[in-house]
Amino acid sequence: MIAPARALAALLVVASPGLGGAPAEALRAPTPGAAGIGDPYFPLDGNGGIDVLHYDVRDAYAFASGRLSGRTRLRVRATQDLSRFNLDFLLPVRSVRVDRRRAQVRHQGHELRITPARPIPAGAEFVVTVAYAGTPASESYRGERSWLASPDEVVTMNEPHMAPWWFPANDHPRDKASFDIRVTVPRSKDVVSNGVRVSKKTHRGRTTTHWRAVEPMAPYLAFFAAGSFAIHRSSCNGVPNVFAVSRNTTSTPGQPARRAAAYWGRQTCTIVSELSSVLGPYPFSSMGGLATGLTVGFALENQTRPTYPYASGLQPGLLTHELAHQWFGDSVSVAGWRDVWLNEGFASFMAGFGVELRGGQPQQDWLLQTYDSVPDSSSLWELSVDDPGPARLFDGAVYARGQMALQALRHRIGETAFWTLLRTWVAQRAYRNGSVQEFEALAAATSGQDLTAFFDAWLHAQVKPARTAANGLV
Ligand SMILES: [Zn+2]
Repeated sequence: MIAPARALAALLVVASPGLGGAPAEALRAPTPGAAGIGDPYFPLDGNGGIDVLHYDVRDAYAFASGRLSGRTRLRVRATQDLSRFNLDFLLPVRSVRVDRRRAQVRHQGHELRITPARPIPAGAEFVVTVAYAGTPASESYRGERSWLASPDEVVTMNEPHMAPWWFPANDHPRDKASFDIRVTVPRSKDVVSNGVRVSKKTHRGRTTTHWRAVEPMAPYLAFFAAGSFAIHRSSCNGVPNVFAVSRNTTSTPGQPARRAAAYWGRQTCTIVSELSSVLGPYPFSSMGGLATGLTVGFALENQTRPTYPYASGLQPGLLTHELAHQWFGDSVSVAGWRDVWLNEGFASFMAGFGVELRGGQPQQDWLLQTYDSVPDSSSLWELSVDDPGPARLFDGAVYARGQMALQALRHRIGETAFWTLLRTWVAQRAYRNGSVQEFEALAAATSGQDLTAFFDAWLHAQVKPARTAANGLV
């Protein structure tokens, strides 16, 4: 976890009384934490002055009404002297306590402004308890409605914003934390989440399932799914592997959900082993996946357990993309959302490399074929992949041109330097963050080459890169 940049506490310089030149005494006055962590794409995402160390989320979900109620305890460290601080949350709040004392709350849209009974000194750890209840489907942020549910099934999967619909968070990848997630639903339903299952207890017809994710996790990568699932449990090189498939997936005729869960659990292990062989050890202490029966047009790299649409739509390329994100995106997260190439370009490249690894088309052939087939006038070349803007964060160019850029880099600096670069990147920054600029610097250092013009051509210039050896195309 990287704490938000430690804000400078305001300095009150008190003039020393009298003559004689006694040293001025500096007093620090507590100030409000900022409403955002400082990401220019999403100014209200995350918050200043706090570093969340652990989330303890306890939610209950009612399928018929779509109502979610809960209580989340956050263990937090102050990174400045705080008079108040914000959390990101959308549901109506019943009460907030800071270290068991009732706090003053002002809730405006996405911002939950909390004023504790007493100021909190920089460096102090404190516990915030937020109680809430509401209907997530009726909430939106920046026009996004991230909640995904039917009367039978629910899954919290979205990017870049998902947490504020089901727990109060410091919602930015720069503030990672460990998680305990307990979700209570009718006993007929199963609950799947990140990490390992700690317990499952039924009381008066309702079951509470407790999952624990021990490695640091960005809030948007936390998830739970509840529904009727076939759950296959196995072990992959000693790592617990849990793969769940919705029994509501009507699009798998003749393939029972339990057989699909076992099959895709095995595929997950195979692909994770392939990726580990080139990237270094799998970064987490559990793995798996979940195929939802809900209608959703995307898959998401939820930490340790990606979520996929429909068991029948699964294929190795999609799994490879989401499992590659466990290294690129989850373990090493973006420093800011403008760095999204480090997630999507890399996951796309690894999916393409997986094809090559399994005896399919070599990536360099794919690169040249794609380069030749995309005209100069294509929108693929209009977007700066290293700064796509908040509205085009997941534009096709971030994926396709981003994938091309990595293969071109591989061709330009050679196999040894390229794979050393990727392994060094994920090892040095495991569980932390990185920016495109930092990756470019590491690429130059690892290869011993000046790559300024290369990265400008592939990631920044709004024209098709020239077909040159310097651009990895000859
Ligand atoms: Zn992706």
